[in-house]
Amino acid sequence: MTAMLSIDGLWKSFAGFVATRDVTFELLAGETHAVIGPNGAGKTTFFNLITGHLRPDKGSVSFEGRDLVGLPPQKIVRLGIARSFQRINIYPRLTVFENVQVALIAHEGQQWNLFRPGRSLHRQGTQELLELVGLASEAEETAGELSYGKQKQLELAIALASQPRLLLLDEPTAGMSPQETGETIASVRDIVKARGLTLLFTEHDMSVVFGIAERISVLHHGEIIASGTPDAVRNDPEVKRVYLGE
Ligand code: ADP
Repeated sequence: MTAMLSIDGLWKSFAGFVATRDVTFELLAGETHAVIGPNGAGKTTFFNLITGHLRPDKGSVSFEGRDLVGLPPQKIVRLGIARSFQRINIYPRLTVFENVQVALIAHEGQQWNLFRPGRSLHRQGTQELLELVGLASEAEETAGELSYGKQKQLELAIALASQPRLLLLDEPTAGMSPQETGETIASVRDIVKARGLTLLFTEHDMSVVFGIAERISVLHHGEIIASGTPDAVRNDPEVKRVYLGE
């Protein structure tokens, strides 16, 4: 498999504190890859460096052969990388349908600022995305009134509206009940397969990580200390020592 995302010698400091230390990383096209590590290990910073929300001090990030460093986040989305955040990022007062519709409109570069969009705009595309994430029957509900798990599913539909090839999910099951976690993971797995997506995600729930990741990279104090198949990572002596607490 070829590398979809290649990262070489990436560094990022905040006021002298090194959050990303010489990270070199390859994401293969079509794989499901987890980035794990304790709180403060640098996972969110790593995602922010990929998506243009932060600029590295040093190093390169290349997506499908194109250098991303210095590009703004909107431009990176347009190149095919979508992301969901830990914090819920929806329009709570719009309906579920309108949230996805607006995301499709924004992706097309159309304006909707002052008025709610006409119902027919992107109707089919909106419905397809709602079906994909299992929210078709909640289309007319107010987004802010959905359960937490369903709001996260809505976020996923919004992320997919930009038609990404690479999806970045930051703790997709954080704050979810065990049942919501199970449903979310099953849904993410189906969507990744249905759309042929490459998935890079962070996750604190190890049963989720070892359940769906084909490869895992472990961050510790901003450095990647291991990268490989779940079995290889699980048995890596350094990972056991610093992370799994053995
Ligand atoms: P993780 O996502 O693994 O919990 P983060 O990437 O959020 O880790 O944070 C890594 C380290 O960088 C932490 O020590 C955090 O306090 C620090 N950090 C992250 N963002 C900033 C920032 N904007 N300014 C200062 N320090 C930051």
